Formats: sequence, C-alpha cells, structure tokens
Amino acid sequence: MNKTHNATLIYGDGIGVEVVGATKKILEAAGVKFNWEVCEAGAEVFKKGLASGVPQETIDSIQRNKVVLKGPLETPIGFGEKSANVTLRKLFETYANIRPVREFPGVITPYSGRNIDLVVVRENVEDLYAGIEYMQTPNTAQCLKIITRRGCEKIIRFAFEFARSEGRKTLHCATKANIMKLTEGMMKRVFEEIAPEYPDIEPHHIIIDNCAHQLVRFPERFETIVTTNMNGDIISDLASGLVGGLGFAPGANLGKDVAMFEAVHGSAPKYAGKNVINPIAVLLSGVMMLRYVGEFEAARTIDQALLYTLGHDKVLTQDVAPAGKGVSTTAFTDHVIGNFGKIYDEKYDRNYKPIKIPADPKIPEDVISSVNGVDIFLETRELPNKLGAELKTLLSNSPFELKVISSRGVITFPETSGTQPDIGDHSCCRFVMKNANDNVDSNSIVNLLHLINDKYRWVQVEKLNVYDDVSAYSKAQGES
Ligand code: NAP
Repeated sequence: MNKTHNATLIYGDGIGVEVVGATKKILEAAGVKFNWEVCEAGAEVFKKGLASGVPQETIDSIQRNKVVLKGPLETPIGFGEKSANVTLRKLFETYANIRPVREFPGVITPYSGRNIDLVVVRENVEDLYAGIEYMQTPNTAQCLKIITRRGCEKIIRFAFEFARSEGRKTLHCATKANIMKLTEGMMKRVFEEIAPEYPDIEPHHIIIDNCAHQLVRFPERFETIVTTNMNGDIISDLASGLVGGLGFAPGANLGKDVAMFEAVHGSAPKYAGKNVINPIAVLLSGVMMLRYVGEFEAARTIDQALLYTLGHDKVLTQDVAPAGKGVSTTAFTDHVIGNFGKIYDEKYDRNYKPIKIPADPKIPEDVISSVNGVDIFLETRELPNKLGAELKTLLSNSPFELKVISSRGVITFPETSGTQPDIGDHSCCRFVMKNANDNVDSNSIVNLLHLINDKYRWVQVEKLNVYDDVSAYSKAQGES
C-alpha cells in the first residue's frame, strides 16, 4: 500500500517511550508510511493540573486522525480524578475491546504445544465498569451494573464481524445469565437473536465461570469469546497468563469512528528507562493497527519476523528468557527488523480481511409500559417482623400494601423457614397496590414516600416496571 496514514501517537508513561518507540521503529521499517501526531496524556498532564489527564489538543488530534497508537498511562494516586485511559475509551465510545491471546513459539509455558489462538472481545463502556457507585447507607455500598440492549447489539454484532474478518469459525458468548437474568441475560438473548445472521460462525453460549474453568483446562477449544466488561477484563488477563503473560498481551479499543491500539499492560514503572522491557504487546497492538488501516502485507511481514525471532532464533527479552539470557528492548527490536522477509511457519498466517464495523442498531419499537408497584430501600436496623408490622400500620389508609421485605436479595418478611439472613442496615421493601387494578403513578409513589419518610430514612426508589406484559424486575429469593 502506498498510502500515508495519519495517526495520533501517545507514548504514555513509564515504559511507554521504550515500547511505543520500538513499535514505531518496526512499523516504519516495514515500509508503512505514517504521519504521526505526537500527543500527551497521563501522568505529566495530571501534574500540570488537568484532572482528566487528556488535554484538548490530544482529543482534537484523535478526532482528526481516528487512529491512535497508545502507550500505557498511569492512574496517579492522590491527584487527578479518573483514569485517563477510561476517559479516552469513553470519550470516543470505543465500545469493543479486542484482546488476542496466542501461543508463541520459543516462549515456553505449561501450555506450549496446545496451539492456543483465541480472541476475547470485551464490551468496553458499560457494565459495572461504568463506575456508578453509591454508599446507600454508611455500611452498604452499591455499584450499578448498566447493560443496554443497544450496547449488547453493538458488541455482539461486532464480535461476529470480527470473527469473520479473521476467519474464525466459532464464537462463544460468556455470561452469568443464570443469575443476573436481566443484565447478563440481555447479552445472552441478544446473542441468540443475532447469531442466525451469521450462519458461517458457530454460536455457543457458556456460563462465565465455566468459561474460566474451560480456558484453563482446554484453551485450544476457544476461537472467539464475546462477553460483558468485567467478565472480559478478568478472562482476558487469565488467558494472557496462559501464553507468557502481560508482555504478550496486545489490545485494541474500537468504535464506530475511532480505533485505539494499546497493550493490556500498564506503565511498569520499575522498568522505566532500563531498556529491558518486552515490547511485543505494544508491537502486536501495532500489527492490529496495520490490519485496521489495510496494511495486511506489512502486518504479515512483522508477524512472521517476530515468530522467527522467538521460535527460530530463540531471542527473548528477560521476562521470559532463561536467567541472564534476555536481550535488551532495543536489541530485540533490531533483531525483529533483521528478520523481515523470513517466514517462520505459514500455519500462523490467517486469512485476515478488513473488519466491518457494524452500523448503529435500529431505534427499538415502542413497548407498552406499566408499573406493578415500587421497591423502596430503607436505611434501618429494625428487625424484619417489627419493620413489617410498622409499615403495615403506616399503610392502613394507603392504596399500597407491603408485599415483602428483603435484605441483599433474600426475603426477610414474611418470615420464611431456614436461617434468617444477616440484616445489617439496609432493607428493600416491596409495595404493590391493594387493589391490583389500580394504577401506580408518580403521585401515588410520592405520597407513599411521604408516609414512609415520617418514620424511616429511605435511600432509593425503584419502580417495578412491566413492558409488554412482562415483569421487568427480579424477585427476592423466596418471593412467590
Ligand atoms: P503493569 O504496569 O502492567 O505491571 C505489572 C507487572 O506486569 C510488571 O511489574 C511486570 O511484571 C509485568 N509487565 C508489565 N508490562 C510488561 C512488559 N511489557 N513486559 C514484561 N512484563 C511486563 O501494572 P501495574 O504495576 O499494576 O500498574 C502500573 C501503572 O500502569 C498504574 O498506574 C496503572 O494504573 C497503569 N496501567 C495502565 C494501563 C493502560 O494504560 N492501559 C493498564 C494497566 C495499568 P514483573 O514485575 O513480574 O516483572
């Protein structure tokens, strides 16, 4: 390809200068022309007093170029507010995090010879990692697990398209839908709806904990795994541990407009400036970037030269070399360049095609909504039987009646057989209409809150929504 690609380059913190520098040198040596815009983000920016860690010039550059090669960014403790990494991912809605995990010849692990070659496609902007947290009482913390149908559609379609672009034949969707039926369950349902659009890819659903177990026992059985944000974070780290660790774990954050390529690892400050760190994770992120911009031939040249360096020449950095045998980052970089044109083994070649980023999901059709009742969470240490009796008295003239009280999802009132759960200072009280035909509207909920507020400190209110005649809330354990 005889094109010059515009790209934003962020060296980042710690070992960033060394590993991003090594990658830039190798990409350019492979004959790919880049017009790099070098931009700042991370620790130095935080120190200048910018709480986001990402200056406007960097944001403008990414918006212009759409493609970013990025080093690790420190999340400083004591100054700065949010992680600059998370800020970048959210600013550009890079909703798909791709983490390939592949066995490398010459890198000896307990799994050598098993031909591990899988990719974790992790939803990157929703789930618990949206970081929406509350202390509901002084002793009870809550983190919201936000999963949207739109977010599921985007990541599932993306995962199928990604599998197709790499000629992968199976896609596992890993969820905890057996427990979290609405959130994780939505990911599973959307997966099952979309799968028939991709008849060339075999769909499988797997429970996430079994997925972790199978990954350790039979990692070679997986080709592509799509999953929610936190599950993906954990299993991709687990999987990278099977093939040599963080030095071998590349990544990409892709969205509709922007693609950001970066290693999974951080700034490893203890190695900064020592010229000893493994540059492969960033290098392979750079190779993914080459494929993204259509430079398939150069990507293959680098990939085969890297495999030759590791598998044939047995040249390794110190993280995986036998004691005293590791080469420096710069020597490793030059060795890879010296192996350009050599083919280690064609079995490592894949029939890569450009990835088709799916169009945005359609706006869903309207549904018929109604409200069945309301959950009101109270900060109280009152024992359930006493709380239940007092609420019943309070509600004597209200259209609402108390259905159940629960604590951490387990029914505490009316009393059930078995051990009473440990109550703490947080109870959820579920109210429904005495007359099931009465409508639950905002005014009736406000009146109910007034009543309860006379005696108890309420901390959260949730409507019990019904969409198209289907209840859209979970029941407490033991609730009929
Ligand atoms: P880390 O920087 O990933 O380093 C943890 C350990 O992983 C290192 O001490 C080293 O292990 C190994 N390692 C990391 N990169 C390696 C490489 N290229 N080659 C060989 N080994 C490598 O994690 P951390 O120490 O927890 O975090 C340091 C800083 O990085 C924090 O400020 C964190 O917030 C940030 N961070 C940024 C990103 C990102 O920008 N995407 C990601 C993660 C963390 P040994 O000690 O065993 O040699």
